[in-house]
Amino acid sequence: MDAEKLHRESIVIDGHCDTILSLMNRQDWPGYKKRDFFTRSDRGHIDLPRLKEGGVTCQVMAIYIQPQYKPARSARRAMEMLDTFHALLDESDDFKLATTARDIEEAKAMGKTCALLSIEGGEAVEGSLSLLRCYYRLGVRAMGLTWNQRNDIADGVGEKSGGSGLTDFGVSLVKEMERIGMLVDVSHLSESSFWAVANLAERPFIASHSNCRALASHPRNLTDKQIEALAKKGGVIGVVFCPSFVDDSRDNVTLKRLCDHIDHLKSVVGVDHIGIGSDFDGYGAPLGGQDAPKVVLKDVSEMPKITEELVSRGYTEEEIKKILGGNWLRVYKEVLG
Ligand SMILES: [Zn+2]
Repeated sequence: MDAEKLHRESIVIDGHCDTILSLMNRQDWPGYKKRDFFTRSDRGHIDLPRLKEGGVTCQVMAIYIQPQYKPARSARRAMEMLDTFHALLDESDDFKLATTARDIEEAKAMGKTCALLSIEGGEAVEGSLSLLRCYYRLGVRAMGLTWNQRNDIADGVGEKSGGSGLTDFGVSLVKEMERIGMLVDVSHLSESSFWAVANLAERPFIASHSNCRALASHPRNLTDKQIEALAKKGGVIGVVFCPSFVDDSRDNVTLKRLCDHIDHLKSVVGVDHIGIGSDFDGYGAPLGGQDAPKVVLKDVSEMPKITEELVSRGYTEEEIKKILGGNWLRVYKEVLG
């Protein structure tokens, strides 16, 4: 099987990145020089030229609400990030907003790159279903209910003594998201809040960027029982490249180790629930931190290496196409309409 050819003809979807933040001025980071999305850079992980090199059809881009904006300025911050994103659409005809699976298929057919918008941190809705619906109207199609903290919806994974499920507002929010056609993302939820969503959800829900707890003990990774519950509802888990989620020892972080997570997911629930959710521009050097001694991929331009590795592991063409984007596309068709 020709891995390069297979990669280029596939619809490739990356389920999570924090790139919008790196295109903005950073009040929290004196001296930070924002990047230009349309110019190839060596800094960070994602820009349009590198998305094209990596053969990515659709990049899910997060509106990530940083802790310093919570709770009072969350909606204002979300709007500023949406403004930054929509300015990109105004600037180039080569970069499109996707709000449905069909938009992604059309982008692929036309050789264009598209992005699907997701909010990371439900503080952005500031306790109002009206704001949720306004975000939908601005193109947002997924939302992570929490980041690591507790909010008025649920507990984040950082709340070690939590134990809460969903608040009453959280329950009505999930129901409204399902009604209007917005994906519920459980990636940063505490375990108890995860189960509250799993028990309530009537539609498929997603973990946009999480790995397997069986292989790396980080609490952001999912247990086999969680993976089974998510799959039972028809959802997808995007495997994440952030080193601490790939292996407990940073020396063992490699593309092969990431693909061990794909193998494990396949052994637990089959290939229909596996996607990619890189978290590019959300960890390591782009954030001012240190890159691990080893990384899964240098940046998004190296995405074809995943296809190479899956081919060498004996995955079939059909299975690889599902993992690269077909599974995300199926869930988008079902939930976003
Ligand atoms: Zn995240």
